[in-house]
Amino acid sequence: MDDPRARVARAVSGMVAGGYAVDFDLGNGSVPCDQCDRSLGNGDEVTAALSCYEGHTWELYGLYCAAHGVETIGASMGAGSDEQAVVAATLEPTGYHDPRGDHHPEAVSLGGVDVLDYAPMAYD
Ligand SMILES: [Zn+2]
Repeated sequence: MDDPRARVARAVSGMVAGGYAVDFDLGNGSVPCDQCDRSLGNGDEVTAALSCYEGHTWELYGLYCAAHGVETIGASMGAGSDEQAVVAATLEPTGYHDPRGDHHPEAVSLGGVDVLDYAPMAYD
């Protein structure tokens, strides 16, 4: 049986640090901490809350600076019905190809991912 935490770590490693719920700046590769608005970027150690939309796409829910140390699902987004995880990561300057084919060389991604908290999909 596959270890779900290992599967999550594989799925979100290299994922661009931004998304629908996170207001990131592709131009300069900065992402705000969800709690203090501190600008995070290349080399910063962060924690990230993610949920797996309808069981197939991991979406970033929030990114938090080390000072806030948000390390649990309960402390970040709260329990939901989708698969959820909180991971520790280091932001890496990988660049990003967006779905429209544009390349953003300054964008940062999740590297060195370590799953801190995990919850499987909940069924009613
Ligand atoms: Zn913060």
